[in-house]
Amino acid sequence: MFLVDSHCHLDFPTFADDLDDVVARARDAGVGTMVTICTHLSRFAQVREIADRFEGVRCSAGVHPHEADHEGPTATPERLITLAADPLVVGIGETGLDYYYEHSARDAQQASFRSHIQAARETGLPLIVHTRDADADTIAILTDEYRNGPFPGVIHCFSTSRYLAEKTLEIGLYISLSGIVTFKAAVDLQETVRALPLDRLLIETDAPYLAPVPHRGKRNEPAFVVHTGAAVAALKQVEVAELARATSDNFFNLFSKIPRPDIAGVAV
Ligand SMILES: [Zn+2]
Ligand SMILES: [Zn+2]
Repeated sequence: MFLVDSHCHLDFPTFADDLDDVVARARDAGVGTMVTICTHLSRFAQVREIADRFEGVRCSAGVHPHEADHEGPTATPERLITLAADPLVVGIGETGLDYYYEHSARDAQQASFRSHIQAARETGLPLIVHTRDADADTIAILTDEYRNGPFPGVIHCFSTSRYLAEKTLEIGLYISLSGIVTFKAAVDLQETVRALPLDRLLIETDAPYLAPVPHRGKRNEPAFVVHTGAAVAALKQVEVAELARATSDNFFNLFSKIPRPDIAGVAV
């Protein structure tokens, strides 16, 4: 079985002492590809270094909405486009809107989001979207920008409304599910997932956050995406192997800069 962790943060300090073991455990669990996601352009060099060090690990370039006040202005479309030319950079983000924490002003988040969208449109690399308590503005910006020309992308750590799912699927984005789907209380999300098309789903850990059951509350790591895959398979009423095959296939369709591994489980 071949699994992908489409979104993790391997540069975070919590992994500094045992990253080799973390990546080795992921491989042992069948996780052949991981994307370590950039949150600060000021730390891009460290993120890239990890992608360079480990085979099967790639990275993104972008500024998290939490950092939009301080670092948003550094994420110009030109700078992102330049970074995207690096062979190890396979996506633009993470970007988006977070009105739950609102660590940065909303207008700064929105401006940074639009810069990332422009870079995704021009490079053809997928936009990695973070959205929390901001469905209406996320949809409005995505839809508005889409009128200026299409761009590929994914709503990462999807945990919100059916309406957001429908709207984003309409403009061709994918939806990535995290360990939240394994939480007992996530009944609404589980109901939404049942209705989502299997050919538009990805899975991720968002490690070190949001460890799935049975590791809930502990540090998350890419190997644990297995549990999220099993939970999504149960919701979709398919075998785990089928879910692994579909989500890996979707991943390589979206993250098309990564050569598709030549393994039986990922045949189109
Ligand atoms: Zn996020
Ligand atoms: Zn993230």
